[in-house]
Amino acid sequence: MNRHGHGSPAPRARALESAAGQSWTEQLKHPVNTLRRLERFIETTPGEREAIATLQTVWGTTPHFAALMDPRDPACPIRRQVIPSLAERENRYGRPDFLAWVEQGAEATPACILKAYPDRVVFLVSDRCASYCRHCFRRDLILCPGRRPRLEREEGLRWLREHTEIRDVLISGGDPFLLVDAEIDHLVRKLREIPHITLIRIGTRTPVVLPQRITPGLMKILRGYHRVPIWISLQCNHPREITEPMARAVYDLLSCGVSVGNQAVLLRGINDDAETFRELHRRLLTIRVRPYYLFYCDFAPGIDHFRTPLEKGAELIRDALQGQITGLAQPHYVVSTNIGKIPIQARERRSRAGRSCRLRNAEGKTVTLPRIPD
Ligand SMILES: *Cc1c(COP(=O)(O)O)cnc(C)c1O
Repeated sequence: MNRHGHGSPAPRARALESAAGQSWTEQLKHPVNTLRRLERFIETTPGEREAIATLQTVWGTTPHFAALMDPRDPACPIRRQVIPSLAERENRYGRPDFLAWVEQGAEATPACILKAYPDRVVFLVSDRCASYCRHCFRRDLILCPGRRPRLEREEGLRWLREHTEIRDVLISGGDPFLLVDAEIDHLVRKLREIPHITLIRIGTRTPVVLPQRITPGLMKILRGYHRVPIWISLQCNHPREITEPMARAVYDLLSCGVSVGNQAVLLRGINDDAETFRELHRRLLTIRVRPYYLFYCDFAPGIDHFRTPLEKGAELIRDALQGQITGLAQPHYVVSTNIGKIPIQARERRSRAGRSCRLRNAEGKTVTLPRIPD
């Protein structure tokens, strides 16, 4: 039951109207990060209210994203990605030391540079997001009040200039597009001045949660033919996130000569059924976004309620995508570990004698192929 009275449409209607008219800076000035603001959009449940009141966590989203919530359905895929849950107190499979574990063995770098591969690094440039994902794998850094990392961008740039083996820089955070235009411009210019950098990638959820961010000013910074191209990775997890403003933001990015891919996270009860999964990937192609990765829900603590069996993503790709829609729609399914990202395939069966293997298609038909010795 909503404080405003069950069935009263007025506050929600006003909230939706105001969300649709706000610029990106206005959206960020009015985040939906208090119970009072959330209840302008939805009827909260007792569990949601208790989680908001008791969990010590950074949370909140934009009016744009809140407007996509189903006001009456607590299982709404947008609500579950944004509103804290009491289930976050539990942890059975997550590693309390998840961030240290995935970075284990990495060489010493500034705090803003994460290096797991010889030729490429993650460059953390912001500790803020427009919308805080409850399934965030950097939740220890981003969602814990008072544990925000110290991100020195100039120190990161200096490190990159000195490390000539790095060809590919993945700008991440937090969300890099929460920086103001001048900061993004500076970062892109400075990276392009480094002779050994041949690729700039940016991971941002703003086209999904804050499409107003793709302004003419930002487009001017990204636009044009350059020696070093920019590839952008979104995170879009559910077809409901694909709206007209979002599709327009993607188009505007593409029109700058930027490539746009998607990195989805496999989330139980949100996108782990065949129909939603297929619809997500089909719709991504229709807005010109190439699915790149499907991530297994990371072994970060407190997110077991989003966790599926490990094989689930591979089975979904086989059963919901392969043979039913074009290979262009098929992401690489990976799990992040202390030895890097590991691709996971649906299991093939070996014959008992080991001389052949049996492959299965989406319809459950099988074919047997010989195993060729080395
Ligand atoms: C994911 C990741 C990258 C980028 O990996 P790609 O497979 O090239 O997308 C780079 N560095 C780190 C530390 C990563 O976790």
